[in-house]
Amino acid sequence: MLLQDSALLSLESGSWFKLICGASYQHLPSIRNLALAYTLAGVDCIDVAADRAVINSALVGIGVAKNFRQKAIALGYNPSNPLLMVSVNDGEDPHFRKAYFNPSKCPPECDRPCENICPADAIKFEHPTEGVKEKLCYGCGRCIPICPYGFIDTQSHVISIDEVLNWLTKLPINALEIHTQAGHFQHFQTLWQSVKPHLCRLQLIAISCPYTPTVTDYLRQIENHIKPLPIPLIWQTDGRPMSGDIGKGTTHLTIKYAQTMMEQGFTDYFQLAGGTNEHTALKIREMGLSDKINGIAFGSKARKILAEILHELEIISPQNQLEDYPHLLWEAVFVASKLVNSLKKNNID
Ligand code: SF4
Ligand code: SF4
Repeated sequence: MLLQDSALLSLESGSWFKLICGASYQHLPSIRNLALAYTLAGVDCIDVAADRAVINSALVGIGVAKNFRQKAIALGYNPSNPLLMVSVNDGEDPHFRKAYFNPSKCPPECDRPCENICPADAIKFEHPTEGVKEKLCYGCGRCIPICPYGFIDTQSHVISIDEVLNWLTKLPINALEIHTQAGHFQHFQTLWQSVKPHLCRLQLIAISCPYTPTVTDYLRQIENHIKPLPIPLIWQTDGRPMSGDIGKGTTHLTIKYAQTMMEQGFTDYFQLAGGTNEHTALKIREMGLSDKINGIAFGSKARKILAEILHELEIISPQNQLEDYPHLLWEAVFVASKLVNSLKKNNID
């Protein structure tokens, strides 16, 4: 599948911005609201865990953003139509969550809003022990915030990578990122065997690997195994994972990692991650690398700068929908766009 023009332009101009929702970050309302705010702020890609409920929440956020597109443009923002990327790990089965609650605890006076909101008809009260029908629940999470008593939670179920790949035929997933690590070649090969037949459904494939002093030997082994490819490849140089909100210096390792890869003759696209923050774009410009590094993925920093707004929303709104509170929505878009523009403004202008 061809890479959409806007994404290609961003990669080619070095202004590709990816929001990482994070494998361990599965707070569904926040993922929805982050996807909404960052779509209006102009991200190129939203990367989520291989969890159906998480994917669904991100898609809802991207979908809601369409309703606010014109307003965002009028306010001077540059809203996007981001690619949805799903992350999978080699050597680890993906998890899938399903809702559960104990129906015997439900007060008889409850109007059962959970039953009405479920799009899969998975909640039934035909007999006292019924509750969520596990087979029907696909973990969309809509029933969770609607319960006035907070009785509904989720349970994790292990699923196969083939099931995740099957979603590519049903859901608008545009890209896949494989997380690997040095020494995992056998696991990688097994995963790649499953992924390869599905590449034609994707616009992009990314390989992410944490830094070690000999990581490039491992990545060369991977490169030789997967090429030629029918779609573009991004190397994600994962420097100091989940540290971007700690401070300015966390960004150095990912830049050094990308530089080492380039010196060793790797081509394709390079995306920095792990320790990235608002200083990263400036740093790569100062080092004269703007035309060599194609983009930056932001995780903990991108989430942290909106945490206060999303926390305030959670307190005042049981539905936890950012768009219901316009002052919070536009404040979130303003804050998100400052981070997005730390990369985009100078590279595109
Ligand atoms: S609304 Fe239905 S499908 Fe969605 S999580 Fe709840 S029970 Fe599952
Ligand atoms: S909304 Fe909550 S309390 Fe009411 S029936 Fe559903 S799970 Fe039970």
